[in-house]
Amino acid sequence: MEEHTHEPLARYTTLRIGGEAQRLFQPKTTEELISIITRLDQISEPWHILGGGSNLLVSSSGVKGSVIRTAQMLDIKQLDTYLIEASAGVRLPHLARFAAGLNLSGLEFLVGIPGTVGGAVVMNAGAHGSCMAELVESALIYDVKQNKLITMTKDDLSFSYRKSTIDLGSQVVVSARLNLRAGKQSEIEAKIKANEEYRLKTQPIGFPNAGSTFVNPEPNRSAGYLVEQAGLKGFTSGQAAVSQLHANFVINLGNATSTDATALIRHMQNSVYEKFSIKMRPEWKTLGEFTAEELEPWKVKVPNS
Ligand SMILES: Cc1cc2nc3c(=O)[nH]c(=O)nc-3n(C[C@H](O)[C@H](O)[C@H](O)COP(=O)(O)OP(=O)(O)OC[C@H]3O[C@@H](n4cnc5c(N)ncnc54)[C@H](O)[C@@H]3O)c2cc1C
Repeated sequence: MEEHTHEPLARYTTLRIGGEAQRLFQPKTTEELISIITRLDQISEPWHILGGGSNLLVSSSGVKGSVIRTAQMLDIKQLDTYLIEASAGVRLPHLARFAAGLNLSGLEFLVGIPGTVGGAVVMNAGAHGSCMAELVESALIYDVKQNKLITMTKDDLSFSYRKSTIDLGSQVVVSARLNLRAGKQSEIEAKIKANEEYRLKTQPIGFPNAGSTFVNPEPNRSAGYLVEQAGLKGFTSGQAAVSQLHANFVINLGNATSTDATALIRHMQNSVYEKFSIKMRPEWKTLGEFTAEELEPWKVKVPNS
């Protein structure tokens, strides 16, 4: 298992923002994952889970304690004709292509989502009208409070829009079983290509970002539309900016800090509230040391939070 001390985390996030973790561990197997968590709990050292870092704002002031990055847990296998099991660290585009290679359909929506299976289960990742909830049969979870591996079925996970019931403080996704359906190779490939092309046209590919900043507050009023209508396309806070291409994307212009990003998010949230009386909930998760003011946008209680 890779182990680093005083490891800068920016390179492990798609936003390229983040200070040092006191320690970073990268388990490759379930046994390594459990052994490191057990070790850290024995010495009462706080730990946090990082997947692909594609939906995450890591503090530029760093993270106290240890970060356990599950992105190197890479097993993937076909258990049955339509059933695939993928470990937490498997990248979503790789998973989509693996299934395509077996003529299995259902995962084409994942091609442009740069996260891992663990993060996608936690976040109920979705796009193009599909989401993880439709495919997950069950997830294998290391439950720290019970100190054992448990299987959570789709019902146990109670998926909702960009949410599951996984307790981020005490449950770690080890792997997931996904139910797919038979498909035609040419049709699967065509869907993958169409999804990729759509993203190239609609998302700021050239700049580091962490995907959608806010969840859509209402099905027919997207967060991007509201931010755009608030006149914020191109608005900057330090080196963080609202993308000109898609107003729900915050981009890093080069040397953005987490303070730049939180100030911008606060401004986006407040501006939309002033214009529409809608409080948007951030989709991004945070990791590390933030001030109470920086975390204000995450404190809002909204119906879908
Ligand atoms: C360009 C771009 C496009 C995107 N498009 C989409 C999209 O279309 N749809 C969509 O839903 N999302 C999208 N995202 C957001 C993101 O990719 C997804 O939310 C993804 O599922 C996050 O996975 P991750 O592994 O990167 O999680 P991370 O960002 O590493 O973590 C997210 C949360 O999950 C927790 N976590 C991660 N792994 C585990 C684990 N193994 N066990 C327990 N907890 C864990 C973390 O602690 C954190 O709280 C996009 C992001 C980018 C950068």
